[in-house]
Parts: sequence; C-alpha cells; structure tokens
Amino acid sequence: MNMGMDRTTARWMAMILLCGALVSCAAVNQLNLLSTADEVAIGHQAAEEVEKEVAIYDDPVVLAYVDSLGQALARHSKRPDLTYHFKVVDTDDVNAFALPGGWLYVNRGLISASANESELAGVVGHEVAHVVARHGARQITKQFGLAMLVQVAVGDDPSLTRQIAGQFAQLGAGLTLLKYGRDAECEADYLAVQETYAAGIDPEGMATFFEKLLALHETEPEGAAVWFSTHPPSRERIANVRAQIAALPTKRGLRADSERFQEMKARVGAK
Ligand code: ZN
Repeated sequence: MNMGMDRTTARWMAMILLCGALVSCAAVNQLNLLSTADEVAIGHQAAEEVEKEVAIYDDPVVLAYVDSLGQALARHSKRPDLTYHFKVVDTDDVNAFALPGGWLYVNRGLISASANESELAGVVGHEVAHVVARHGARQITKQFGLAMLVQVAVGDDPSLTRQIAGQFAQLGAGLTLLKYGRDAECEADYLAVQETYAAGIDPEGMATFFEKLLALHETEPEGAAVWFSTHPPSRERIANVRAQIAALPTKRGLRADSERFQEMKARVGAK
C-alpha cells in the first residue's frame, strides 16, 4: 500500500468520525426564550456576584494578554457582535468558565497548565463557544421556565434577574446552571476548533490539552475538580476534536505558540 492510499484512507476515516461528531452535537435543544438584552442583564449581574466570591488576578499585563486572545477568538466566532469581557481568576485550579451574555473567566492555573498558546486558546475558545451557542441562556430557560422568563422580559421584577444571576454565581458544589450536558459540550468543542482555526491558531492545542486533562483526571482529579464536574474528560471528545481537525483544509502559518504566551506563563508562575 502506498502513502497516498494511506492518506486517503485516513481522511475518509476522519470524515466518518466527524459525521459521528456532528450527529451527536446536533441534538442540542435550541429552546431559548431569553432575548440577548435579558441574557446580558443576567450575565452582568452574575458577574458582579461571581467577583464578590473569587479573587480576581489584577496584573494588567496578563489581563491584557488574555483579553486580546479572547477577543480574537470571539471576533472569529459565530457571534462576533456581542461585547465580551475577559477576567483572570487568581487560583491554581485548572479551569475557565463563561456566564451568559459574554462574561468569561480564565483561572491563573489554566495559564500555568497550558504548554503553549494553542492549548490555552482551545479552552478559552470552548468557553467563548458556550456564549456563542447561548448554552447559559438555554439552561436558564430550562430551569426557570416560560412564566418566570416572561417576567424577566417585561422587566418589572429586578429581583428575578438577581435570583437567576445568583444561581449562576454559585460556583461551589451545585453548578447546575454551568452543567450544560454532553451535547452542548460537544457543540462547544466543535465551535472552538472552528474559532481557533479561523483566528489563525493551531486547533491541535485543544486535543493535546484535553489529553493532558484526561491524564490529570486519572492521577490527581482535585487539580481541576470544577472543570471535571462540568466537563467530564473523555476519549470520545478527543477523538471528535482530532477528526474535525483532520478534515480541515490545510492552512499555512497556524500558530501553536507565541513568545508573549510564554512570558505570561512565566509571569503567573512566578507569583
Ligand atoms: Zn464546556
């Protein structure tokens, strides 16, 4: 068998796997009764609550870097017109999370655990994708139902917005609203590969970081406990991401790393 045959076979295998990924992602329930304005109002309130609970890492150099990386991914996403806010949380836990309406948090520990810029971009892109696909708004719809959301929409009950926002801000044991489910996670992975590739970053970093998380899950699960509770690592997710990457057209100059990322990693590590 010659090399050309091997490559064709590999490409077909990737296509078949990719179709499997697309089918499983397509089952995301799109029922979403919140307007963008309501989603942003709830997200804004939730962000204020979250920032009372977590320690924000306030090094402006690191913040500017995370913001520029996040904004590049958001700009290349399917929801580029929303205003995105990126913050860094001062903790060793390997995690990142997104609130509805565009408030995103990247832990210092995630920067430290990333070997290169493309690994960090993969996880940030995944969180951006939850906002893009409105998974938070969908969770609110699911949990609070139509009658309550009509009250949010007419805007005559600010306490209700606060109540919903408060639930998002509970980052402890519950995390109900941040548990989006398998199909939403699959969709976020899929969109993150597209975002990173479109932004000129090598999507391969997502696959290598997920592999690292899978290994971490087996050896020291407490190191990324929150991420694991909302994002069960699996070989299937890694296989889906790899199949999607294999089916992408070749693109020259995709960036795996940057000097700036390595400077930031040293900076947060030196803390
Ligand atoms: Zn996720």
